[in-house]
Amino acid sequence: MDKIERLEKLKGIVSNCYYCELGETRKKSVFGEGNHDAICTVIAEAPGQREDEIGRPFVGRSGQLLRKILISIGLDPINDVFIANIVKCRPPGNRAPTAKEIDICVKFLKKQIEIIKPKLIVLLGKTAVKGICPNFAKESMEKLRSITKSLGMITYEDIPIIITYHHSALLRTPWRKMSAKEDFQFFQEKYKELKYLSEG
Ligand code: URA
Repeated sequence: MDKIERLEKLKGIVSNCYYCELGETRKKSVFGEGNHDAICTVIAEAPGQREDEIGRPFVGRSGQLLRKILISIGLDPINDVFIANIVKCRPPGNRAPTAKEIDICVKFLKKQIEIIKPKLIVLLGKTAVKGICPNFAKESMEKLRSITKSLGMITYEDIPIIITYHHSALLRTPWRKMSAKEDFQFFQEKYKELKYLSEG
């Protein structure tokens, strides 16, 4: 099976998943979307109301902000990255996913990463950290942002990780926008470097 077939098969499994209670309350699961050969996977928390209705990631208010930020650093959200969430179904009332839901659902995301084989992972917010590098979940976001500026200090399966704020935190606390801008500029630089290296 090629990458696209493997991802389609996994998507089918996710859409029929009832391993946790979110399967009973979701309208649509949100698998993620983008380039199956992407250099970078961008990972957030969980679908919100709009995502749940239409089955696509980052289409609600905060998600659209993330798409705009990606475009502002020259990345097309469909062609240049793969965007996904730690949890594939909407937690009712937009509450944060529980530790159990993260634990169950992150297996799907890990399979996506195994198939796509990105060279860089960007984690948006604490839930994403809990899912992919739980050993660092107790650290503050400020510390995590700073550590990951030394790219390679935090990795998942040898893939370097950049950590920044979740886009909904930027809507709630606009003063974080300047710091997030720095993080995304750093991301842009590293993305370009890795793309150059992977093209030979
Ligand atoms: N917030 C997320 O974490 N993911 C989405 O897909 C939308 C909003």
